[in-house]
Amino acid sequence: MTQATETVVIIGGAIIGSFAAYFLRKEGFQGAIKVIEKDSTYQFSSTALSAASVRTQFGCDFNIGMSLFGVEVFKNVKRYFGDDADIGFDERGYLMLGSAQSIEGQRNNALMQREQGASIDILTPEQAAARYSWLNVDDIGIATYGSANEGWFDAWALLQLVRKQARKLGAEYVDGEVVAIEASADSVVGVRLADGTCVPCDWCVNAAGPAGGKIAELLGIHIPVEPRKRTVFHFTAPVPGEGFPMLFDNSGLWIRPEGDGFIAGIAPDEVDDLHPADDFEPAHDLLEGKLWELLAHRIPAMEQIRLRRAWAGHYEMNLLDHNGIVGPHDRLKNFLFATGFSGHGVMHSPAVGRAIAELVTHRRYTTLDLTPLGFERIRDSKPIVESVVY
Ligand SMILES: Cc1cc2nc3c(=O)[nH]c(=O)nc-3n(C[C@H](O)[C@H](O)[C@H](O)COP(=O)(O)OP(=O)(O)OC[C@H]3O[C@@H](n4cnc5c(N)ncnc54)[C@H](O)[C@@H]3O)c2cc1C
Repeated sequence: MTQATETVVIIGGAIIGSFAAYFLRKEGFQGAIKVIEKDSTYQFSSTALSAASVRTQFGCDFNIGMSLFGVEVFKNVKRYFGDDADIGFDERGYLMLGSAQSIEGQRNNALMQREQGASIDILTPEQAAARYSWLNVDDIGIATYGSANEGWFDAWALLQLVRKQARKLGAEYVDGEVVAIEASADSVVGVRLADGTCVPCDWCVNAAGPAGGKIAELLGIHIPVEPRKRTVFHFTAPVPGEGFPMLFDNSGLWIRPEGDGFIAGIAPDEVDDLHPADDFEPAHDLLEGKLWELLAHRIPAMEQIRLRRAWAGHYEMNLLDHNGIVGPHDRLKNFLFATGFSGHGVMHSPAVGRAIAELVTHRRYTTLDLTPLGFERIRDSKPIVESVVY
């Protein structure tokens, strides 16, 4: 069989599935590309509900590499998607605050990030306070700031651009829910949709986001990817948004400007962080019970905030190590994982889409080597833990 007669089926047509479809053509794949999406409104997709921010401050080098490629795309959307393309990329860094105990670790991380090509300032608490007059640094030991290649953008606009371009390049988006996957002893041969349609394939990509674990279970494969609910609060506050970074506090809270206000969030306590099934109700109690007090401690002027709205989405949490799973299954070699990004999948979507396209088109990675993210570490329970997660 030549590649021109092959069919790639991508399960999930949000940001990762769409970047895979787009890059397949860019890499020269000539066969059919079918993107199966169960909800073309994308209202519950992680992509639509995310905070759409990108950072290079990670503990694992491959995550930095993926971010740098992501930023390359986000900064140059016109080159990738045409002159009208605009995702409002705002290149403002992440300010990461560490405690006195984490000075050495955070400093070493920053040095490693620089070696990987990131631009990271290392600040003393006094230097951070001098830059940000609203910041309480009493219990801070260190701050790091990404002076380039970090920021935020409009993920919805990005999704529309990538989908449109993928379609233009010949990818077909099919409305339907994958309910079964047919396989022989060593390969996937097709997927079955809820309406009974069977779609034969030569490659099958699991880009189902928080449903990535459920999709793998259709083949009897267990991966530790489960949905976890994360609530985002949107409010106004008497603090200037100008020059305000994406702030990651050592308490676990994050906050950044959004329009004329701010958005912020924090993970629930572990005992409350359960599989949410279809629950997209914002956890309002998190604001009163946890977030507000921590915010007012770090930024005293945020004692006075005015809530505008809240929404909740699902992280596709890889419970093993908070890193994505990318690449083929060990037995079903044409079943490719592209899931488990645990809250950093939008920023990594260009790199993951390109990686999947390289595997299908060239049978190997030709740019970033994402072998460490392969299924084998899941099978062997050998985590490569990403420590910088929120
Ligand atoms: C509150 C919140 C904040 C976040 N902030 C950030 C951030 O700042 N930066 C960042 O990089 N990431 C962030 N993330 C994570 C990011 O949103 C995800 O990692 C990313 O969107 C994953 O993209 P995806 O395409 O794999 O998944 P999704 O966007 O969830 O898309 C999966 C798609 O698969 C479809 N699907 C599922 N099952 C089936 C099926 N059986 N058949 C057909 N279709 C199916 C779904 O309908 C969906 O459209 C955040 C997430 C949340 C929830």
